[in-house]
Amino acid sequence: MGRSGDGQTGEVRDASWRSDPVVYEWDPAHPPGSVYVHVPFCFHRCGYCDFTLVAGQDELIEPWLTALSFELDRQPERLSVQTIYLGGGTPTHLSPGQLARLLEEIGDRFRLTSDGEYSVEANPDGLSDEKLAVLAGAGVNRISLGVQSFDEQILRCLERTHSPDEAAAAVGRAAAVIPNVSIDLIFGVPGQTGSSWATTLRRAVDLPIRHVSAYGLTFEKGTDFFRRRRRGEFDLPSPEQERDFYERAMDVLPAAGFGQYEISSFARTGFCCRHNQVYWDAREYFGFGPGAARYLAGVRSTNSRNTRRWIESWLKGRPALQEREQLGPEDRAREAVMLGLRQTRGIDLERFAQRFGYTIRELSPAALDTHLAEGLLQIEPDSAGRPHLSLTRRGRFVADSIVGAFL
Ligand code: SF4
Repeated sequence: MGRSGDGQTGEVRDASWRSDPVVYEWDPAHPPGSVYVHVPFCFHRCGYCDFTLVAGQDELIEPWLTALSFELDRQPERLSVQTIYLGGGTPTHLSPGQLARLLEEIGDRFRLTSDGEYSVEANPDGLSDEKLAVLAGAGVNRISLGVQSFDEQILRCLERTHSPDEAAAAVGRAAAVIPNVSIDLIFGVPGQTGSSWATTLRRAVDLPIRHVSAYGLTFEKGTDFFRRRRRGEFDLPSPEQERDFYERAMDVLPAAGFGQYEISSFARTGFCCRHNQVYWDAREYFGFGPGAARYLAGVRSTNSRNTRRWIESWLKGRPALQEREQLGPEDRAREAVMLGLRQTRGIDLERFAQRFGYTIRELSPAALDTHLAEGLLQIEPDSAGRPHLSLTRRGRFVADSIVGAFL
């Protein structure tokens, strides 16, 4: 179904928002090369998840698609981009027809360059061959599957609705259609043992995948897991076990050919996630959908995380924003340090100073010297002899506190 099929709410289109400058403008001299679209639907909300989504409210999918087409209209001309990323929620929770409409709405406003990366997040359950064919037919060339674990008990704890064998089968079916497959894995889950995590990693590297994201479980305020942890319901891994889990990922994945290129990301050569690298390089990008963030013309903004409010607002032709922040030159530089240090290649110090007008020493001399002296940061030349600042392997274990010191 194309945009012409949006008759349901066409009468509420309102030209007045077009004169509303807010946050959608970008510098024509430097067009952003990346697009994020948030698909806020899941079958069920997992207990640890604090993403923007509604579960079990599929009647909102059609109004959301219409609202999204209104927000996408903020991009009036069809622009070439290098990366598109559909995240969620679970984009593949949509029916094949809804997925096709979504991909068409995006394709009407953005053209992917011939060597571009088009990623879609998916879950193993419900990933039918029909949906895979719709994705591949629209040019999707990377799929990121929420596998999380190959241990049945850990999957139950995480409230995931697939089994280990179903996850492996979904990876195989996806890879047959879209060969660039990534999987997400989680460690630090209540009840998880070292041998369970080792088995998950071993099983992962035997799959036809090109990329792994390995995250430590977090307990975000407002989630069921946060409340359950406070009530003492969980048998949590100790800090030493957490450290061992991460260390094992940093040993097993590179040994199997998945080089670590970011704190949580491992890829076969040539398969780093180019879309995420846009974020870590502090480059600009478009964002659409409830809860989506964007960074355009030096302004960071985030849409309302309330999916119903976001839909209702756009059906009246009005943006629904949660936050808007104009970054000054120093804020931009500090943020670029924080993001750039996530990448194992680190930050090219000379290029950083040219781009932002500050050296990292000018920004945070104490944080730099302390962490260099403690062996948590290092300055090393790259293959061209250019000095780069990066986290050491030891520094990756405490990355959050190190990058926080530069803000
Ligand atoms: S499937 Fe993913 S996005 Fe959906 S509720 Fe679970 S963790 Fe969150």
